[in-house]
Amino acid sequence: MYTEQDIKPLISESQIQQAIKTMADNLNNLYKQEEVYLICVLKGSVMFMTDLAKQLKMPVKMEFIRLSSYGSGTESSGKVRAIDILLPDLNDKNVIIAEDIVDTGHTAKFLTDFFDYKFKVKSLTFCSLLDKKIKRVVDINPDYYCFEIDDKFVVGYGLDNDGLYRNLPYIGYIETQS
Ligand code: 5GP
Repeated sequence: MYTEQDIKPLISESQIQQAIKTMADNLNNLYKQEEVYLICVLKGSVMFMTDLAKQLKMPVKMEFIRLSSYGSGTESSGKVRAIDILLPDLNDKNVIIAEDIVDTGHTAKFLTDFFDYKFKVKSLTFCSLLDKKIKRVVDINPDYYCFEIDDKFVVGYGLDNDGLYRNLPYIGYIETQS
């Protein structure tokens, strides 16, 4: 169990908000006044999705999906499945996926395959708050991301460690003792 003292700040609240504003400007430019479905990948993306939604100027519908990835501790396993699909019919809709972080890329690949298989969407834009490119094992990249980060296990602003720290307004990493 870590305490908040073990969490080293990495990205501040104001840096996050500024980067989300820039991402939203790009999306506003891309979609103009077309309606979009903004999909929150629960639970890690909840802060990112809601802050991004507030900066979007087109008509927005907010929807949710919850995935589970089997794994232990802080390592991704690559075995991803959808456990709560709280989605309407998205055929012929513009879809923006809001994901917290792309690490190995297994989850991003699962999500894009899932939407391709389930629906014939009009457009699909994959947005990630964080991109840990250095850890990628699947050849996939978000269309837009806010920050590239090193190989650190980060928490805060929706991201958890064993369910904790999602409520921190900033992103930090857990300093492990050596
Ligand atoms: P991937 O499938 O790309 O390996 O991992 C994506 C998922 O793993 C993310 O949606 C997130 O739930 C989790 N994850 C990957 N890296 C981190 C991290 O540094 N911190 C936290 N809290 N979760 C992470």
